[in-house]
Amino acid sequence: MDFEITHEQRMLVDTVRGFIKDELAPLEAGIEETGVLPDDTARAIFEKSKALGLYGMNIPEEFGGGGLSALETMMVEEQFGHTTDILIRRAFGNVYEVLLSCVGPQIARWLTPAVTGERVCSIAFTEPGAGSDAAGIKTKAVRKGDKWVLNGMKHFISDGSFSDFFVVTAVTDPTKGHRGISMFLVDKGMPGFSVGRDQPMMGIRGTSHLELHFDDVELTDEHLLGTEGEGLKLAFSVLGRVRLAQVAARSIGKATKVLGMTLDYARERVQFGQPIGDFQMVQQMLADSAIEINAARTALWQCAWEIDAGLDPRAKISALKVQGSETLGRVVDRAMQIFGGMGFSKDLPIERYYRDARIYRIFDGSSEIHRGVIAKSMLKGGGAIFDPWGA
Ligand SMILES: Cc1cc2nc3c(=O)[nH]c(=O)nc-3n(C[C@H](O)[C@H](O)[C@H](O)COP(=O)(O)OP(=O)(O)OC[C@H]3O[C@@H](n4cnc5c(N)ncnc54)[C@H](O)[C@@H]3O)c2cc1C
Repeated sequence: MDFEITHEQRMLVDTVRGFIKDELAPLEAGIEETGVLPDDTARAIFEKSKALGLYGMNIPEEFGGGGLSALETMMVEEQFGHTTDILIRRAFGNVYEVLLSCVGPQIARWLTPAVTGERVCSIAFTEPGAGSDAAGIKTKAVRKGDKWVLNGMKHFISDGSFSDFFVVTAVTDPTKGHRGISMFLVDKGMPGFSVGRDQPMMGIRGTSHLELHFDDVELTDEHLLGTEGEGLKLAFSVLGRVRLAQVAARSIGKATKVLGMTLDYARERVQFGQPIGDFQMVQQMLADSAIEINAARTALWQCAWEIDAGLDPRAKISALKVQGSETLGRVVDRAMQIFGGMGFSKDLPIERYYRDARIYRIFDGSSEIHRGVIAKSMLKGGGAIFDPWGA
């Protein structure tokens, strides 16, 4: 077991941290106020980040990405958590590993442009009637000759306004339940594909969440990602790493950033003639936040190490999804308490962190769904999640 951070890892994290502080953090207040990241600003941060080699870092080098290990990906994703969702997307990319399943002409059409940032991709699984129950979708793709005809709708699709193409789940065999669902690569602008409402959200301003409508969209076999009927299997096998990065690691990063701000405030804010950080009840809140962040980060690194070792720690990823997002929830709640009225006021960004944090316990599988995954794995005999010696 070696917890030493290498020189290269330290340099990488310092570069990302510096970029976020200098280039992205100054944009946050404006996006919060207007709800928009202007196109020219988005382009500028993309180009600066790309020039530093910071775009698509999670993708293997052979496909043009940064080739980071899972552990290194978690280190940089934690830093991404120091800024907002929309800025992360534009500066560093949200290049989903599921695209690595592209084969033949799909590579040049969808994978490579996504890695270079020429084209942006969103994941479109959720429907009004099927959220947690990903197999309960109604969108269907029916075989007609050598074509597929896609009909249905999706909602809550993050970054949909900006995205050029979508990974869409559809039922291809209604008799086979979750084994009858396939994934398709669908380009914006295809005949029959239209975007609906941008659904307003409580937080993560600047990001769009779209309804998508498919009305007799004609697809070919080139649009099929992976094997017919194995869409959900493929999704579950690769989206775990995304979840670990984009939810667990970013939650820990956000919690770390907020605790740092809270600590500064506790030192500076004076009441009853002394800094509020001198009061034991405030100290307890600070200490509890630090303890929980450290525990979550250590578990995150250990889980990433297992991925790099070729293991498949699905139940641990679920545990980290819950631990990271719920730690963040408690840390921002304590921060608001310590900041008092200034925490609730829009004069400071604490209320924004508070709002932005809430979705982390819901999207990418709610806390309840992931607790179910953990418990089922334990009941099947997977005790390693809590007892590495007894496994
Ligand atoms: C801001 C935002 C961005 C999103 N981005 C995307 C995206 O890019 N692509 C995409 O496909 N989707 C996206 N989603 C959808 C998101 O993943 C779903 O909202 C989430 O999976 C929960 O589904 P639901 O909202 O339908 O809630 P429901 O599934 O209706 O759940 C409601 C409640 O019931 C509980 N529940 C449901 N089933 C069970 C169970 N078996 N056991 C115990 N409790 C249960 C849930 O935990 C929850 O508390 C996004 C959503 C939001 C709000």
